[in-house]
Amino acid sequence: MRIECPPLPFADDALEPHMSAETLRLHHGKHQKAYFDKLQALVAGTDFADLDLETIIVSTAKARGAKPKAIFDNAAQLWNHGFFWRSLAPAGGGLPAALAQRLERDFGGFARFRERFAAAAAGLFGSGWVWLAERKGKLEILALSNAGTPIADGASRPLLTLDVWEHAYYVDYRNRRDQFTAAFLDRLANWDFAAQRLASRATAFDPAAPGAALRA
Ligand code: MN
Repeated sequence: MRIECPPLPFADDALEPHMSAETLRLHHGKHQKAYFDKLQALVAGTDFADLDLETIIVSTAKARGAKPKAIFDNAAQLWNHGFFWRSLAPAGGGLPAALAQRLERDFGGFARFRERFAAAAAGLFGSGWVWLAERKGKLEILALSNAGTPIADGASRPLLTLDVWEHAYYVDYRNRRDQFTAAFLDRLANWDFAAQRLASRATAFDPAAPGAALRA
């Protein structure tokens, strides 16, 4: 079994008050752990058991049938959460110049990007993920439902993500997804991580690896 459920890259109270320790304990310790446990149970004794997470995701992304679909959903959720934790920074932080320039070029500036990202989060019906990604040299925003992930078809390279499943914000913000999205964009987003991803040209990402942002 090569699949791991990595620990949070920061203490569970490190994102207070924007994301509470209670949220992180539930989100990482219960929700993500459940995806990990279900995935392990699903792949045990199958050919998937020796594959890495990204290979499992890519090879089940278009599969038909209940079991492959369940494997995809749980594998993608496990991967997406690993990417999400890296997309958060306890101290927040400024926008690196190289990323700011790309946001300027592809969205018309940070303010326009912020507006479009927030609109994508608000407009995503039900559960899912909003991504900042790069496709053919251009930055884009993707709103993907449920366990959707840009690595499923490899067309886009993820740089940053926001989990907009209700479990990500209901403890702290109740039904106010817009406030949660604003907290992410204004206080929590790890722009350094996004900039490192952009600079590294890496498509793959192993959430269990130290310094995972730079894995090529
Ligand atoms: Mn989640």
